Amino acid sequence: MSTYDAIIIGAGHNGLTCAAYLLKAGYKVLLLEKRSVPGGAATTEAIIPELPEFKFNRCAIDHEFIHLGPVVEELELTKYGLEYLYCDPVVFCPNPDGRYFLAHQSVEKTCAGIAQYSDRDARKYAEFVDLWQRTINAMTPIFNAPPKSIIDIAGNYDFKKVKDLLSMVGSTNKALDFVRTMLSSAEDILHEYFDTEIVKAPLARLAAEMGVPPSQKNLAIGAMMMAMRHHPGMARPKGGTGALTAALVKLVQSLGGEILTEQMVKQILIDDGRAVGVRVASGQEYRAKHGVISNIDARRVFLQLIDPNDVDSADEHLRERLDRRIVNNNETILKIDLAMTEPLKFIHHDHKDEYLIGSILIADSVKHVEIAHTDPAIGRIPDADPSMYIVQPTMLDPSMAPDGCHTVWIEFFAPYQVENAEGTGLNGTGWTDELKNKVADRVVNKLADYAPNVKTATIARAVESPAELGERLGSYKGNYYHIDMTLEQMVFFRPLPEIANYKTPIDNLYLTGAGTHPGGSISGMPGRNCARVFLHARQPFLQTFRDAGKSAKSVFEGIFNK
Ligand SMILES: Cc1cc2nc3c(=O)[nH]c(=O)nc-3n(C[C@H](O)[C@H](O)[C@H](O)COP(=O)(O)OP(=O)(O)OC[C@H]3O[C@@H](n4cnc5c(N)ncnc54)[C@H](O)[C@@H]3O)c2cc1C
Repeated sequence: MSTYDAIIIGAGHNGLTCAAYLLKAGYKVLLLEKRSVPGGAATTEAIIPELPEFKFNRCAIDHEFIHLGPVVEELELTKYGLEYLYCDPVVFCPNPDGRYFLAHQSVEKTCAGIAQYSDRDARKYAEFVDLWQRTINAMTPIFNAPPKSIIDIAGNYDFKKVKDLLSMVGSTNKALDFVRTMLSSAEDILHEYFDTEIVKAPLARLAAEMGVPPSQKNLAIGAMMMAMRHHPGMARPKGGTGALTAALVKLVQSLGGEILTEQMVKQILIDDGRAVGVRVASGQEYRAKHGVISNIDARRVFLQLIDPNDVDSADEHLRERLDRRIVNNNETILKIDLAMTEPLKFIHHDHKDEYLIGSILIADSVKHVEIAHTDPAIGRIPDADPSMYIVQPTMLDPSMAPDGCHTVWIEFFAPYQVENAEGTGLNGTGWTDELKNKVADRVVNKLADYAPNVKTATIARAVESPAELGERLGSYKGNYYHIDMTLEQMVFFRPLPEIANYKTPIDNLYLTGAGTHPGGSISGMPGRNCARVFLHARQPFLQTFRDAGKSAKSVFEGIFNK
């Protein structure tokens, strides 16, 4: 039987990030991944067998959050082959009336475009971006530390961030107004700032990437999704999102870490209230001296992988709380990938190839986006008039398809469980091949209203239903953030207050991944934060000393404005 210091369940980008930090600290680490490839929702694969030269990002494509943290620099991922290509323009949203919203990385250039529709909205756009930019600056120190580690959080504040924090909450009224903003919805904020639908609709679509309708109260924070595209900017790894995973894999292996694929963990082994290893589907066991770390969410860990008696002995309420208190709505994604012989042409919008560099949003109005999210919540498929998020990655990075050819990535929000279809289709969700292709046809038809050549230039397509996505990722109801990103499940509430700091009531059992703070997306933050907690548990004095040193350095730099 093989013994390691730490075993990580799942080789998603957070599991790999966590592994890299532990390996750098001298620990012997094993990652066990159920699929044949590592990466989880961060892979680039050739999924159309007859077209192996076309490479597709199966899930994540646009990276913003990772640039708000130190993972790429600290792990020196560029040395392991990672190269980020920045998008500019960042967003194109064509309207059915022939007008369009085009956002550049430059706020000024974006405002100039908006001014052709409304001078007021152009002026307010700059204010809007400034508000969210300061909010992001004030909050990133919290994202980049375990939520209950005050010293660690303090150490992340430099002069600029303290200034931005004070500008948001520096007096009683400012603080109250900030809280008021956070308690409202993205839609409320968009109506407060803007008059024109042509500006509001794409911003609503991006805000709703949090996985909720723009009208969802308490999630105004979604409105920051556009601001991040201006700064730090939106980028994609050259070669696709899988290149981030490839760089992490190279780093992990170069440090002596082991990654075993096609190893579905079935059981976490508990001995006297302590996690001591895992058993995989084949029956093979692996032992961990210092910790088992899960890259999959707490619900799956405690309800599927641990003997209920062991969970109950550690916390008699935990299973019921995980089962009933965690919110996981019915919304997930139907994913469409196209192989094409030429790029999309937006002929009704004075086509320019630059439209195809960033994200292309089909969001005709705020109401259009609202329906795209409220329908899936009740099991309906919003395909009568589909809203969607499209990317043509090969415009920025032609290496992902044969010369002159292109790929198209389409994300369409859809229900996991289809209404009135319970018990049929894959895993009883109602999703069949026939249904997913019918929906994909409708989505492509809508895109063809804007770019008619999508039909003539497509040579092959792959469609993955929500049920298939759920199977591939293993996440509950195909949730792309493991658990919903709603306010009551964020920061020290994620996934539940008692297990929100990456530790669990079972000794040596840790949680990381999208289901932990600060949540889903490509960031590596949950992986890095969890590694800090693990190291703190192993070397409390050393880690506290390092964190305190970092805080002192940050305060010093703040005072002297370096
Ligand atoms: C279609 C789609 C599009 C997205 N687009 C974007 C985007 O553009 N930008 C962005 O920032 N984010 C995007 N996201 C979200 C982002 O991809 C995820 O939130 C993020 O990748 C989660 O990473 P993770 O490492 O925490 O978890 P995961 O990637 O889910 O990794 C968990 C790993 O555990 C493995 N596993 C599961 N169960 C077991 C088991 N029992 N034994 C062993 N291994 C197991 C899984 O196979 C997986 O490899 C998207 C997600 C989806 C689904």
